[in-house]
Amino acid sequence: MEIYSIPDINQLRNTVISKMRLFSDSSGNRVFTNSELFNLSQIGISYLSRNSISRHGLTTNLDKSKRISSGNCSVRLNRNLFQEEYIDYAEFVLFHEYIHCLGNFTHNKDFRLIENLWPNKKQMNLIGKKLTRDLQNINSKWAWTCSKCGFIVRKSTRKFRSNYFHKECKGKLENIPIIHPTKLEH
Ligand SMILES: [Zn+2]
Ligand SMILES: [Zn+2]
Repeated sequence: MEIYSIPDINQLRNTVISKMRLFSDSSGNRVFTNSELFNLSQIGISYLSRNSISRHGLTTNLDKSKRISSGNCSVRLNRNLFQEEYIDYAEFVLFHEYIHCLGNFTHNKDFRLIENLWPNKKQMNLIGKKLTRDLQNINSKWAWTCSKCGFIVRKSTRKFRSNYFHKECKGKLENIPIIHPTKLEH
């Protein structure tokens, strides 16, 4: 019997660095050197705060007065990545953060070229969008909205029943999530 268990942060780090070790350019040269990979393996990784819905991963410089480098950064990952359906995407998120750690601060063309080395990148983006939707749904507040006049009658987490009507216009009320716009991951 095979038992699947979700990798922890250390296992995720090892998997991502092993994959990065195999990336080569068109002339067969390794993209990431051993010393770059070693430095990446030394970077502290922790979790983002529990209610983080706008970010899947975040790299910050430890010393704000200096540029991001593998010696001057820490990585945080959304803990919701550590679920069976998101664990492949978690590898991609950590890879993305590692590109930042190597000193690429913005998502410019060079950044995207490196990011494109990851297999199934398009699929990764789709999974990322699904995770964002999931997090929004978990965290959204709900509002009772009049389907006739659009008036928000009340904000609530209370159980909603389908036979509520707006007093003023007799419109039927609907319970809809209030979606907050989210920033892209960094
Ligand atoms: Zn109404
Ligand atoms: Zn980024």
